[in-house]
Amino acid sequence: MFKKIVTAVLAAGAACAVSVAAAETVGIAMPTKSSPRWIADGNAMVKLFQEAGYDTQLQFAEDDIPNQLAQIENMITRGVDVLVIAAIDGSTLTNTLENAAAADIKVVAYDRLIRGTEHVDYYATFDNFKVGVEQAQSLISGLKQRFGGVKPWNVELFGGSPDDNNAYFFYDGAMSVLKPLIDAGDIKIVSGQTGMDRVGTLRWDGAAAQARMDNLLSSSYTKERLHGVLSPYDGMSIGILSSLKGVGYGSGGQSMPVVTGQDAELPSIKSILANEQYSTIFKDTRELARVTVGMVDAMLKEGKPQVNDTKTYNNGVKVVPAFLLQPTVVNADNWEAVLVQSGYYQKSDIR
Ligand code: BGC
Repeated sequence: MFKKIVTAVLAAGAACAVSVAAAETVGIAMPTKSSPRWIADGNAMVKLFQEAGYDTQLQFAEDDIPNQLAQIENMITRGVDVLVIAAIDGSTLTNTLENAAAADIKVVAYDRLIRGTEHVDYYATFDNFKVGVEQAQSLISGLKQRFGGVKPWNVELFGGSPDDNNAYFFYDGAMSVLKPLIDAGDIKIVSGQTGMDRVGTLRWDGAAAQARMDNLLSSSYTKERLHGVLSPYDGMSIGILSSLKGVGYGSGGQSMPVVTGQDAELPSIKSILANEQYSTIFKDTRELARVTVGMVDAMLKEGKPQVNDTKTYNNGVKVVPAFLLQPTVVNADNWEAVLVQSGYYQKSDIR
């Protein structure tokens, strides 16, 4: 009898020890700390995963592809159970993810699609086409507001990084709105530069965007005035705005062109309040983290993650089931309601 009890107690203890030791680990690979949004994404995930009982390993790769691959390989070697990856270049992970699959590690593509592999289980992101639609719609409302009496509106286009699948969705979404206006002659791309191969900006680099804007201004706008710039990301918008200011836009009676953006980063919110950048797109990283944690949790518990899109994101090998969140346009009229009342920022962060 006594022996039986001792055995039972030991067994219970062992079971307990097993469940403690078995806290599963999530490796989180983020592209860079140079843009605050990825820091917010990383922090939000660490918080939520830990609240749900997971261990986490969070790494940023400073936009260096070999660095990101090494970080992920290292996570695989250290035995993580799941990888959550926001890729720098969505098509460079094929070999690394072979290794992950061999180690039975599940993979979630975070915000950016991972291309060219079957070893990606789910994709958590925003409706990327809609982001582009909203950027273009906001550009047009800005043009009406600032340059209502002018026709045609002179506009230049900027695209995101050609190695990021999202960049094409943003561009195509924006062009679905702009193309009819270009065709009708209401909008003129004075430089003639259109198409991702001509307007893409490697690594979403703000300095590269600024340099391209400088070139466009000196090659195409010595006689013409520029009225609007489609910019896909706040870090680029800030570069573009500094180029524009450099030639006198925004002062001395020369209206600032309407410049869009994305990510609701603080320098851009401040710029919007200073009447420089016109708008940005808010993508609530807390929500994206929540969706991702839910996906991982469901996968590890052998459940079915919730998805709302099973046809849009073909990665070249398969259609990756996705959950798409909704983006929100932010401008000088609604920044407080969207960003402060939701608790995303404190008012004192902004002014
Ligand atoms: C993200 C955007 C971001 C861009 C640059 C894209 O993949 O979806 O939110 O602006 O990368 O970091």
